[in-house]
Amino acid sequence: MKITNEQEMLDYGASLAKKLLSDGHLSTVIELIGDVGAGKTTFTRGLAEGLGIRTPVTSPSYTISRSYAFAAPDDTAHILDHYDFYRLPSPGLMTDTLSESIRADHLVVVEWADTIKNILPHDRITLKIQLNDDGTREITLIQNHPDPKNINIQSPVNNPPLTTADSNTPSTINSHRAIHLYLDTSTPTTILRINNTEYTWQSRNNLAEQLLKYIHDRLREHHADWHDIKEITFMSGPGSFTGLRIGATIVNTLAHDLDIPLYDHHGKKHPIILPDYGRPANITAPRK
Ligand code: ADP
Ligand code: MG
Repeated sequence: MKITNEQEMLDYGASLAKKLLSDGHLSTVIELIGDVGAGKTTFTRGLAEGLGIRTPVTSPSYTISRSYAFAAPDDTAHILDHYDFYRLPSPGLMTDTLSESIRADHLVVVEWADTIKNILPHDRITLKIQLNDDGTREITLIQNHPDPKNINIQSPVNNPPLTTADSNTPSTINSHRAIHLYLDTSTPTTILRINNTEYTWQSRNNLAEQLLKYIHDRLREHHADWHDIKEITFMSGPGSFTGLRIGATIVNTLAHDLDIPLYDHHGKKHPIILPDYGRPANITAPRK
């Protein structure tokens, strides 16, 4: 089918959304194939509009994924997940985030799926967008069929090894619950992210007594436990002196004990995190 301008691409995305809504086909994967600038993200914008999503869809290139909530005609809540693996040499933990989205019955749209093809379900929709010399686009929609050999395979197979930029001991994810933990204790509102789920907690003066249990309770909600944490990122400051000290102690202990990489919020890896209080710490100097 020929698309001659941007509006037609948006309309095409919206019409596919309407079809998925009316067919109740809302837990599917759409793989988008096409060069840079072909219109993959533009199509996704149209799709989101057609699903009734008001938040403007922006390219997830730097964040890798974005999620948007929408409602089916019967008012049930659904999620559109938009992934973009462009130039990501190793998808690392995003592989797990993606496979969780797929298992959770989300509507998943993926740009540049080459590195994670092996975890996409066989019965996905493939949309090819070809950019012609005259600026028009030729689009081809393929509804793939389930692979009869693999029809019962629920969980991803052949997970690529988890490698992080400067890790010298790449490890393989054996658990399908591999968790990336992000923690920010720099303000009275603690922010905890377990993969792409974010929790906020008005921790106030309870941080020291309750933080460990708070994290563990959230892990349990993800059917995970301490040993499922494969990476930790910590907001190392500046911010609350006590908050940073308590948070750093916990992440340092966890990362050391689990033997997993620990990053600050700039993505720099550390053997242990030293909080950046943003000012000299007002404590008594240790006696030599
Ligand atoms: P991709 O995600 O494939 O890299 P984008 O959707 O981000 O591409 O960008 C496509 C660009 O091309 C946008 O700036 C859009 O305005 C423009 N454009 C022009 N004509 C079309 C068309 N027919 N379909 C989609 N995009 C178009
Ligand atoms: Mg794009």
